[in-house]
Amino acid sequence: MSSQDGCAVLIALEFLRGFAEDKMCGKCLPCMLGVAQMVDILEAITKGEGKEEDIRMLEAISSAAVDTARCKLGKDAAGFILESLATSREEYEEHIDEKHCAKKSCEALINYSIIPERCTLCGVCKEVCPVDAVVGEKLIPYLSDNRPYYIREKKCNRCGECLAVCEAGAIEVV
Ligand code: SF4
Ligand code: SF4
Ligand code: SF4
Repeated sequence: MSSQDGCAVLIALEFLRGFAEDKMCGKCLPCMLGVAQMVDILEAITKGEGKEEDIRMLEAISSAAVDTARCKLGKDAAGFILESLATSREEYEEHIDEKHCAKKSCEALINYSIIPERCTLCGVCKEVCPVDAVVGEKLIPYLSDNRPYYIREKKCNRCGECLAVCEAGAIEVV
């Protein structure tokens, strides 16, 4: 796994969810319970609700599963998490301590924002926003007091539609 490719915490979470859905048979507890516990912990971390002891807990649970899971599938899955913790520990700590996702992947930890200096007041972002989170007025040449565009954080569901359509590159993920 390369920590360069995406958020390590999110990759670990999606890996375990996929494993639980497609491969885990549920015949032994260290794997079944361990995966469920790790999914809960990882989910909380990606939502900015991680706790100080979470990394230690993940290490303990995955180590136990590596040692005691009945088959190679479970051991390998737990081993994947151990490796992720070892190679990307700083990323986990950043999510937990600073509620920050440097890869801008964890939806609960990012916001979309309009850069006023770049915005051409075209209004396309407002048109595509599914939840009416964008506020502002299109440029009318003879008016000098157009209401500038901005995104209401509380309404935004982080769908990314506005970012995709803004040709001026005026929307950033922060
Ligand atoms: S370790 Fe193997 S046997 Fe045990 S629940 Fe996981 S997949 Fe099933
Ligand atoms: S799409 Fe971009 S340029 Fe157009 S109003 Fe929105 S932020 Fe401004
Ligand atoms: S990310 Fe989606 S919900 Fe948020 S402002 Fe952009 S279009 Fe609207």
